[in-house]
Amino acid sequence: MQFFPIFQRLENCHCLFVGGGKIALRKAKTLFPSGIKIDVMAFDILPELEELSISSKGEIQKNVFSTELVRNNYTYIIAATDCKKTNLAVANFAKENNIPVNVVDSQALCDFIFPAIVNRNPLTIAISNSGSSPILSRLLKQQINQYVPDAYGDLSKFVGQHRIKVNASITDKNTRVAFWQKVLQGSSAETIFSGNHQQAEKMLSEALENPQAFNQKGEVYLIGAGPGDPDLLTIRAFRLLQQADVVLYDRLVSDQVMALIDDSTEKIYVGKKRDNHSVEQGDINQLLVKYARQGKRVARLKGGDPFIFGRGGEEIEMLVDEEIPFQVVPGITAANGCSAYAGIPLTHRDYAQSVQFVTGQLKDGSIELNWVELIAPNKTLVFYMGLTGLPLICKSLIENGMEATTPLALIEKGTTQQQRVFISTLEKMPEVLLEENVVSPALLIVGNVVKLSEKLSWF
Ligand code: SAH
Repeated sequence: MQFFPIFQRLENCHCLFVGGGKIALRKAKTLFPSGIKIDVMAFDILPELEELSISSKGEIQKNVFSTELVRNNYTYIIAATDCKKTNLAVANFAKENNIPVNVVDSQALCDFIFPAIVNRNPLTIAISNSGSSPILSRLLKQQINQYVPDAYGDLSKFVGQHRIKVNASITDKNTRVAFWQKVLQGSSAETIFSGNHQQAEKMLSEALENPQAFNQKGEVYLIGAGPGDPDLLTIRAFRLLQQADVVLYDRLVSDQVMALIDDSTEKIYVGKKRDNHSVEQGDINQLLVKYARQGKRVARLKGGDPFIFGRGGEEIEMLVDEEIPFQVVPGITAANGCSAYAGIPLTHRDYAQSVQFVTGQLKDGSIELNWVELIAPNKTLVFYMGLTGLPLICKSLIENGMEATTPLALIEKGTTQQQRVFISTLEKMPEVLLEENVVSPALLIVGNVVKLSEKLSWF
């Protein structure tokens, strides 16, 4: 390790910046939150750097660098002029006086370098690749920024405030470690993330009353996996999937989404097929309860959004009855995913002022829908589970007054690499279906917005 990371107290220390330009300003901004006093020595100083120095209670000397002028006992010196010779002189001075120095654009002269910082005060993440690629560090920082919720700082504070109390209350170390793991990855943490600190305090106090029982309590995450493209998962869904002990997933959850889950996580397929219920809904509910009762964090992963034709409501009703904590993470529903990836806006000022999501599932050869109510001008209809019933859907819409030439789109495996989009009319689509051998999952979008697809399709 060429450079060792250390977190250092810097309040009331002084750092001398030699140079008053943009680079000095950037580094000064990085250091400023530490509480260090920013002293600047340069002939020309950017006004913003001057202000920063003043608010840090640093000293400003509008002079070119000269060793006689250096008068403080510095913790750090930064050589940030655009003159190599001056920077070298500054570095030599620092080394003679045993003061760590950072020299811009000259790593060989640096005693220390600046990391890329993710700041979730008091949580701080510093990234370095020993100066080999600042851009790579910045990219990594962006990724961490995405996956570490902003409220992690609040969570750190919360833990800091309660540490002494918890230490005193749970004396057995193993129980305490398990307790904190549970708090930090469980509903208390999620409650902090959603900003409800009072509720989190209450949950912690209750947990402290019986830590053993608390440690054994599981919970369920009802998660929407989106329509297929793994990039459409929400950040929260991704995070909870990483921390789950067991994942119960459906047929519609794509392989690419499943590939994001760690190999060590237990994965249980509970998918259903039409007319071939591989696991009954009641049994799925029981499984959720069973695993949660074993103290596991159970992710119930469903295609699209769990509350849109997803039976999510039924599953959490059971959890409420059984007093098992849970949370619901919305997903991108097939209508949104497919319409976006097929270039069909579901509403449009010129074509549709409303949109309706409908199930087109066949039951005993018919579809129970109020067709007359469905049909209205300037409206988009989205049929889920309508592949087998497609001929009947088209026929019923025409019989109940919709123009036979109304355009509709059939989107197969929307948002995935295998997506296919077929555009036709109500009267002709049944033929297309036969010719093209369309397979499930497929979604139907009916209405004039479909006309836009030709112009707006991009995927
Ligand atoms: N909860 C899911 C819907 C489950 S019902 C959601 O919010 O999307 C199952 C139906 O969703 C399928 O029959 C199909 O009509 C539709 N569907 C789901 N994923 C799809 C995809 N990738 N492409 C096309 N249709 C899809």
